[in-house]
Amino acid sequence: MSKKVEASGSCLCGAIKLVGKTVDTGVGACHCRTCRGWGGGPFLTVDCGTEVTIEGEENVSVFDSSEWAERGFCKLCGTHLFYRLKSNGQYIAAAGLFGDVIDFEMDHQVFVDQRPSYYCFSNKTHEMTGAEVFEMFAPTDE
Ligand SMILES: [Zn+2]
Ligand SMILES: [Zn+2]
Repeated sequence: MSKKVEASGSCLCGAIKLVGKTVDTGVGACHCRTCRGWGGGPFLTVDCGTEVTIEGEENVSVFDSSEWAERGFCKLCGTHLFYRLKSNGQYIAAAGLFGDVIDFEMDHQVFVDQRPSYYCFSNKTHEMTGAEVFEMFAPTDE
């Protein structure tokens, strides 16, 4: 079972440090076209919630990638740091930032309907299509 831990990670060059108070140890993989176009493959992430502090924020470039999220990367070394939901400021950070010191475990895969046929993870995880993801996060007060 995944749990929430305090953890910090950094980009390759070390200019940026991201500290999360409640980092979920369950890793999610996103197969959407935007993630694959951004990073060359599925984006492996951990949900860091909203209690996130970023040291060296002046080195973060933020790209407005969709109506509902933006993506941050290091201006100096290009490390992909996170995507951030515009609605609540929630950070979903790259799992790789945190090194190998935390017991992360593969937990879920999203946008499986956009996963190309040339790769496949063998992990047995919860899977959601893009439509299911949007349904889950859809505002309930509209
Ligand atoms: Zn960097
Ligand atoms: Zn994605």
